[in-house]
Amino acid sequence: MKRQPPDGSGTGALRRLRFRLLLGMSAAVLVGLFGTAVIYVDQAEKAILSEHDRALHKVTDAVGTSLESIMAGGHAEVAAEFTRRLAGVGGATRFLIVRTDGTPAFQDNATIDRVNARLGYAAFRRHENVDSAPSPIAEATREEFAMVVAGREAVKIADVGSDGERLTLLLDPIFARPICGECHGEGELVRGVVVLETPFGVVERDMGEARVEALVGLVIALGVTMVLTGYLLGRMLFAPIEGVTRAMRRVAAGDWDHGVPVESDDEIGQMARSFNLMRERLKANYLDLLAEQDKLTTILLTSREAVIVTDREGSVVLVNPAAEEILGKSAAQICEDGFERIVDAPGLIHSLLIGEQDASRIQIRYRGRMLAVSAATICDNAGQVIGSAALIRDIDDEDKLREQLSAMARTDELTGLLNRRHLDQRYAEEFERMAVCGRPLAVLIFDIDHFKRFNDEHGHEVGDRVLQAVARRARETLRCYDVLGRYGGEEFVAVLPGLHSGDAGPVADRLRRDVEQLDVDGLRVTISVGIACTELVAAASGAELLAAADVALYQAKAAGRNRVERAVSA
Ligand code: GH3
Ligand code: MG
Ligand code: MG
Repeated sequence: MKRQPPDGSGTGALRRLRFRLLLGMSAAVLVGLFGTAVIYVDQAEKAILSEHDRALHKVTDAVGTSLESIMAGGHAEVAAEFTRRLAGVGGATRFLIVRTDGTPAFQDNATIDRVNARLGYAAFRRHENVDSAPSPIAEATREEFAMVVAGREAVKIADVGSDGERLTLLLDPIFARPICGECHGEGELVRGVVVLETPFGVVERDMGEARVEALVGLVIALGVTMVLTGYLLGRMLFAPIEGVTRAMRRVAAGDWDHGVPVESDDEIGQMARSFNLMRERLKANYLDLLAEQDKLTTILLTSREAVIVTDREGSVVLVNPAAEEILGKSAAQICEDGFERIVDAPGLIHSLLIGEQDASRIQIRYRGRMLAVSAATICDNAGQVIGSAALIRDIDDEDKLREQLSAMARTDELTGLLNRRHLDQRYAEEFERMAVCGRPLAVLIFDIDHFKRFNDEHGHEVGDRVLQAVARRARETLRCYDVLGRYGGEEFVAVLPGLHSGDAGPVADRLRRDVEQLDVDGLRVTISVGIACTELVAAASGAELLAAADVALYQAKAAGRNRVERAVSA
């Protein structure tokens, strides 16, 4: 099953990254620009305020200087007119000259009277229309006014008009000049104070405009920065990254031949180059793995051994065709039964998995057939269990074949009796066994008389049938636990364990007579028999005893055949 590449590497996430980056940068730029705008606005406001102050000072200075000139010419009435006109100057809510005691100057004849009296003549003409205006210095600003007079420094006061309008009140001292002393006397430092009150709204409007300008500038700068940044990021960073990512996705989808374009020598180019190298190596490894997988699949599919594999949770995930055949169940059924019940012996599989039983020796009968079962857990390189596997082999045929082979290795093919090699082995065992338990043993060696003639006169097949008939008859005559084998050609040996010497002769004679009764294709067969008994022959080994029997056989042949002769000594 092919898997889709995780979408986290997709264009969507990349777009989100682009969005996040832009957002983050916007925030950073916004903070920077906002700071700049705040500083700019603050500086602009300060500049506007100081410009405003300077302008007010220039005006009050000009007024002071003008008054000084007018008064120096002795024109008090001109000065009075001048101050009256000041009150009507556009833009100012209050513009007047006051004495140092806070009373308005040039509005009455107090100063003129005092100066004329001091000089002793009417140096200044008295005013005719005298206003009795109240003191223009409000109680709230008395203290500041006193400071202006005493400190000889202009003071600016923020004020609020009766209609709630914000106002700026400037109190600027008019300094006494030496020429003033001529009329007013020496010792005065401040002659009067220029009071100029203007609405603060104009300044505020200027400052508001400065703020709006800063805000507009901020928005434009931010917009331009973001558009430019977005364009440059997209062109220089995201477009190449998206190109690389697209190619990576194709590789992830299995298109191993699709390389990532290397379009630059920068970090992205290096990343693309590294990815291509990795892709080449992965492709080689992947192809190797595929080849290995093909091999394994072929082995599993063609294996005559059942293979059943589970995942780490114990669920059966792999069943090869041999498993279905050997167990006689469908793959679905095997999966459903579960791993521990694959051969209907849960305890067995469990004990194999935990290593209680030696897997190489487990053979069980399952549905009438012999199965060799082995099971083990599968671990990864770190030793973590990642599953289990069971191998099951049907050894029923194998068992039979082994049995057949073993029988063939023991048996003479023509007669079905023991062959010479096995006969020797069995004879030695019986000889040893009887010797150990002190019991007698007799050995008979018998040979078909003139056998060559059967071959010569009737053909080899007839000779074979004679051999088979004699062997069969001998097997019938002897006891089941007597060992009977073909010694070679037409000679046979019978080992009779536990047989006393007195019984050996009758057994041999009965054998001779039984063979004599045979009728093979109308032909008569006789044998000559040599006997050797451990009771009579002191033989150290089976071979010695057999040699004695062979001598007796020779004697039987020599004595005319179809006879039994007994050995009396080794
Ligand atoms: P004797 O009475 O002295 O034993 O004479 P004989 O002819 O039986 O003995 P001889 O040793 O001269 O001949 C044995 C023959 O048995 C020779 C051999 O060709 C034959 N022979 C040996 N093995 C087989 C066999 O498996 N099948 C057949 N048909 N003949 C065999
Ligand atoms: Mg013979
Ligand atoms: Mg012979």
